[in-house]
Amino acid sequence: MNNYQKHLKQIQELKGRPTLLLHVCCGVCSVYPLIYLNKYFDITIFFYNSNIYPYDEYLKRLNALKEYLNILNNPDIKLIVAPYDYEKYDAELKEFKDEKEGGKRCYKCYKLRMEETFKYGEKHHYDYCATIMSISNRKNALYINEIGEELQKKYPHIKYLYADFKKADGIIINERMNKELNLYHQNYCGCKYSIR
Ligand code: SF4
Repeated sequence: MNNYQKHLKQIQELKGRPTLLLHVCCGVCSVYPLIYLNKYFDITIFFYNSNIYPYDEYLKRLNALKEYLNILNNPDIKLIVAPYDYEKYDAELKEFKDEKEGGKRCYKCYKLRMEETFKYGEKHHYDYCATIMSISNRKNALYINEIGEELQKKYPHIKYLYADFKKADGIIINERMNKELNLYHQNYCGCKYSIR
């Protein structure tokens, strides 16, 4: 099995501070990955999450992220909020609506969000592209990194940062920090099929 944490550790050898377009799905998942990555990269967050239903829930997660950025008070970390379009996104997921969480629907959902990040990142000349989604126990890090590898071939001018943020106690640190911060914490993954 691939050791994505080993890949991630290689960033400690990077020279300078490359630019990183970082897909972030919500406030609570971003807490530890942002602190960790900020040591090595010039970060721009890409909030593209049209999977989240309903819109009120989308806003709660976006606002939790903004609240955390306010706490960090680091003007070097920038935020781009991509347009929200649940209807269009759902049209892509619908064929897999009866799949269990973690299956084909989620594979597609990771890919849609990661590909949008790659497209933007390549167009705007970022050095690296990544997603924090692997911090969550609900997300399949193998799928995420396979998709990253595939997209790196399709968008050759931007590098993919392999990662499994939950490893090396990442998930424990993230949970501990979240207890102190008390940010809004969702109780389902995002799409309407994950509410049931
Ligand atoms: S359960 Fe989560 S990852 Fe899976 S399709 Fe729904 S929103 Fe996307």
